[in-house]
Amino acid sequence: MTKDYYKILGIDKNATEDQVKKAFRTKAHEHHPDKSGGNEAKFKEVNEAYQVLGNKEKRSQYDQFGTTFDQAGMGGSGGGQGFGGFGGFQQGGYRTQDMNFDFGDLGDIFGDVFGFGGGSRGTTRSKGKRGHDVEVDLQIEFVEAVFGVIKTIELKKLDQCNRCHGNGAEPGSAIETCKTCNGSGQVTQTQQTFLGAIRQTVVCSECSGEGKKISKPCQECGGRGVSKKLSSVKITIPAGIEDGQSLKLSSQGEAGLKGGGNGDLYIRVRVKAHPTFHRQGNEIRIKYALAYSLAALGGKVRVPTLDGEVELKIPSGTASGQQFVLKNLGVPYLQRSGRGNQVVEVFIAPPKSLNRQQKKLLEELEKEGL
Ligand SMILES: [Zn+2]
Ligand SMILES: [Zn+2]
Repeated sequence: MTKDYYKILGIDKNATEDQVKKAFRTKAHEHHPDKSGGNEAKFKEVNEAYQVLGNKEKRSQYDQFGTTFDQAGMGGSGGGQGFGGFGGFQQGGYRTQDMNFDFGDLGDIFGDVFGFGGGSRGTTRSKGKRGHDVEVDLQIEFVEAVFGVIKTIELKKLDQCNRCHGNGAEPGSAIETCKTCNGSGQVTQTQQTFLGAIRQTVVCSECSGEGKKISKPCQECGGRGVSKKLSSVKITIPAGIEDGQSLKLSSQGEAGLKGGGNGDLYIRVRVKAHPTFHRQGNEIRIKYALAYSLAALGGKVRVPTLDGEVELKIPSGTASGQQFVLKNLGVPYLQRSGRGNQVVEVFIAPPKSLNRQQKKLLEELEKEGL
């Protein structure tokens, strides 16, 4: 299921950022659908590979897991239907405040790379413009990252206009077939030159290649078919996600123009630190203070874990720095079943203050050489 993006770009895993970019340019030119012998499917694949390998974080996630976390289809086709207004998202108590919206212009990369100037794309019918990808930072609690969580965020982005359903025409108004090109979007011109008549097919200037003309533009979007709207998006965050990892929600970015398809939405997950638990990969580590007498004599203590307190046996003669492993109480693995362990590192904490009785007993221990 997972594609080998390195293979698609024809590079090896150690390729530098420059090499990735170069390989992308070469491959994209090779497969560009506007070229003879171009291949749209391959072109898309090359683009997809570059979206990941050309981005430091996504690349390291891909290297680590062999995938970015694609949540395609999750509530995507429902298009907000399930969320109704915005009332719904208080339900889970997951109102998200620490968000900022970073409208990365990943979608514009083709403009940069190929320098598509205005209208220089030859005789093909003008195609819609794909919507921008959107990147959003989402901060979650430590425990939410460990066990997974469903979040609903709201973000402002270009979406299909509700009033005209994206076609740009005021509801009820007529959409006429362009008379200049008879709906084909192209016109053939004949030019007289000293070599004879040259026939040339060009994009119809009357309708910009659309083949149709709107008699009355939509009042809401002014005929663009898209408008900036607040939408709420439901995100399933898998158990075990780490700080800095990104989730990809296909086609949930900004709406494209003229049927150009939606961009993708990337959620970069930020995980808050926890006062007690520290995470190292899938291992949870805690430090636990033991009284000197308990460490010397041995006994039982109750230590905190992500699943609540558990009993831990301390053998007699336990030293500061000694570690105990609680199996399967760590962080769940993202790509397979099972969990890491929790490691408890004990240290011996001398009492901060002593009453008279305690002082006397310790002095007697001291006399015993303990
Ligand atoms: Zn509209
Ligand atoms: Zn026309």
